Amino acid sequence: MIMDGAKTPSTAANLVLLGPPGAGKGTQARMLEDAFGLVQLSTGDLLRAAVTAGTEAGLQAKAVMEAGDLVSDEIVIAILRDRLAEPDCANGVILDGFPRTTVQAEALDGLMADLGAGIRAAISLEVDDAAMVTRISGRFTCAGCGEGYHDTFKAPAVEGVCDKCGGTEMTRRADDNAETVESRLRAYHAQTAPLIDYYDARGVLARVDAMAEIDAVAQELNKIVRQAVV
Ligand code: ADP
Ligand code: ADP
Ligand code: ZN
Repeated sequence: MIMDGAKTPSTAANLVLLGPPGAGKGTQARMLEDAFGLVQLSTGDLLRAAVTAGTEAGLQAKAVMEAGDLVSDEIVIAILRDRLAEPDCANGVILDGFPRTTVQAEALDGLMADLGAGIRAAISLEVDDAAMVTRISGRFTCAGCGEGYHDTFKAPAVEGVCDKCGGTEMTRRADDNAETVESRLRAYHAQTAPLIDYYDARGVLARVDAMAEIDAVAQELNKIVRQAVV
């Protein structure tokens, strides 16, 4: 018999990474996955997979993403809801690139409540707008395993060869160019930055200086996450 309304509280440690495009959310989320056994959920990756697969959502999202605007809340929330329902998310997730609007943050609170869980920490990666163009225009990714790299700041040990999986196919995103950066930053400041106050008001906000080097940022995050997951 299904007991209506009786939820077992979840012990899952769910985290949110906030920050503008190129702040280092994906890079840090992958390191946290390895360190804490959490699952990275990137709505950008989920949307790009939908575009490649040619799903209805992907068809609608493609032009919006290429222009550097935000995909509709409806599409993104539906994609996230489906992914969050998969069994590997039960121990906790690191949300990378979601929520990006207040509507999404409220929807996330609802999804978490349905799971008997909550957001333990929302970590804001703080960077100067001026750094974004350099970070984004030098970004590339291993097609085999998804490891992220940078021409200057995180080059593979052997040029063209992935440190993690040995793969040699590297991809660059269609939207990672100087033209879209401006609209992406505008969308961030107008729609996503208010979420810093949203999570601050709920007492779960932590701020990290993400202008520091990748390993220094990782150390700061490790401290915060260690406290949040206990
Ligand atoms: P986001 O997921 O926030 O858009 P990424 O993690 O993809 O950002 O990082 C953007 C680019 O900047 C990548 O090429 C990455 O290797 C590089 N990067 C990430 N963190 C740093 C850092 N602290 N300093 C310098 N470069 C970084
Ligand atoms: P970045 O961190 O570099 O901005 P993402 O991979 O997170 O890149 O997002 C790429 C694009 O996908 C965004 O510019 C936007 O068009 C779309 N997108 C990703 N996540 C969301 C979201 N939560 N809400 C709306 N659009 C999103
Ligand atoms: Zn790889």
